Amino acid sequence: MSTVAASPAADPAGPLGPAALAAAVALPPRAERAERAEHAVDRLRTAAVEAVAVTWVDNAGITRVKAVPLGGLAHAAQWGVGTAPCFDVFLADDAITTSPLIGGPTGDLRLYPDLDRIVPLTAQPGWAWAPGDRHTQAGAPHPGCQRLFARRMEAAAAARGLSLKAGIEVEWVVALAGAPHEPPQYPTHGPAYGMQRLTDLSDYLRDVLRALGEQGLTVLQIHPEYSPGQFEVSVAPEGPVGAADTSVLVRHTVRAVSARHGLRVSFAPVVEPDGVGNGGHLHLSLWRDGRNLGHGGSGPHGLTAEAEGFLAGVLQALPELLVLGCSSPAGYLRLVPQHWAGAYQCWGLENREAAMRLVTGSTGERAATANAEVKCFDASANPYLAVGAVVAAGLSGLEQRRALPPEFTGDPAAAEPGTVPRLPQGPAEAIAAYERSAVLREALGEPLHQAVLAVRRAEAEQYAALGPEETIAATRWRY
Ligand code: GLU
Ligand code: MG
Repeated sequence: MSTVAASPAADPAGPLGPAALAAAVALPPRAERAERAEHAVDRLRTAAVEAVAVTWVDNAGITRVKAVPLGGLAHAAQWGVGTAPCFDVFLADDAITTSPLIGGPTGDLRLYPDLDRIVPLTAQPGWAWAPGDRHTQAGAPHPGCQRLFARRMEAAAAARGLSLKAGIEVEWVVALAGAPHEPPQYPTHGPAYGMQRLTDLSDYLRDVLRALGEQGLTVLQIHPEYSPGQFEVSVAPEGPVGAADTSVLVRHTVRAVSARHGLRVSFAPVVEPDGVGNGGHLHLSLWRDGRNLGHGGSGPHGLTAEAEGFLAGVLQALPELLVLGCSSPAGYLRLVPQHWAGAYQCWGLENREAAMRLVTGSTGERAATANAEVKCFDASANPYLAVGAVVAAGLSGLEQRRALPPEFTGDPAAAEPGTVPRLPQGPAEAIAAYERSAVLREALGEPLHQAVLAVRRAEAEQYAALGPEETIAATRWRY
């Protein structure tokens, strides 16, 4: 069954057919880009910006960058900035693998800054940031561009009259500056969720909040988390691509503020052996005509049939979605029972041990707040791949009118063994599920599907012989 079949759209090939696809990811006309860049340059000059960092996130989950001086922004907006296709097969440690359809030493791509998202960076004075989309030199969408993939999935939902609100929670561990091989020394020893941590790092956390706010983000909350030196910030939901952009911006803002305070950060899945890790939980709600489909329906906890089908599609696809939602092999050290990471393939209302936690919110506010949280993802994920793949799996479930299995209440680890399926416990199992998934293969397209596969296989091989401590040490300061 196709993810994208059965649409009443005018495009005979459906909402992801050639015409709809092209429209979703096409570059606006060059003259328009030039004019908009001029306005952007004026605005950025007033904000004392001297250079713009244009980022994309690779298939290993690492944010890569090309920067231009402000005087070069107009040219970059019209012609893009050169980037090599080999980045599609980079691993997190900068080793490079191969994939049959993409990557390799020849060729060039053009990285176009998204002028709608460009913003001066508070903690990097003189700098602005923009997420980039990758196109070919001929101006065609690069089939390996992860951000364009997320855009296509957002467009696929829109073609059905659906929109999504998404938000990615960012958890991180902050430590005193040190060498890459050194384990963390913490700047606070306050208890989990303790006010002491906030007091110890009060200027730092205020600066994080200030920077995020000045960069146009609405922070919902910030708090100390469970692990030593761990904190979390959540921001207001937005469309899937916007939410992925925001998660990149939030992470690099936290990193930049930390550096100004003489601190370093880790967004790696696990920082301390056996500790609770850093999640990258994805919240999402499905909307039609301004109505939250997760509320006021006749399904479980008020889900409408469409929202239930969508969530059932996501829940069922979680084993293969882990390939996109947990890039690093280290993610499987985090994804263990009784660590609030959602290691079981089940769902439950406010169940923090379920991979999918349903959140209705408070009585009276539910039409706005009802959403689902995919808990099993971590921050080694490329957020564009994670969010786009979840939308693809959800739309497939919606089209098949799937129903959710019975809800699971309580701790799945305490249930009769075998009652609740565990999610994959290592990369090999997730990779096998990903290879079987026709939905993901079709949604990603063969070149991107294969590039991700090549990167996952190569990293799985790199870590196969390493024990947990070595895996953690190798990944701790990479993300
Ligand atoms: N840090 C936990 C994780 O690895 C999540 C804690 C929470 O529920 O916020 O996902
Ligand atoms: Mg948390």
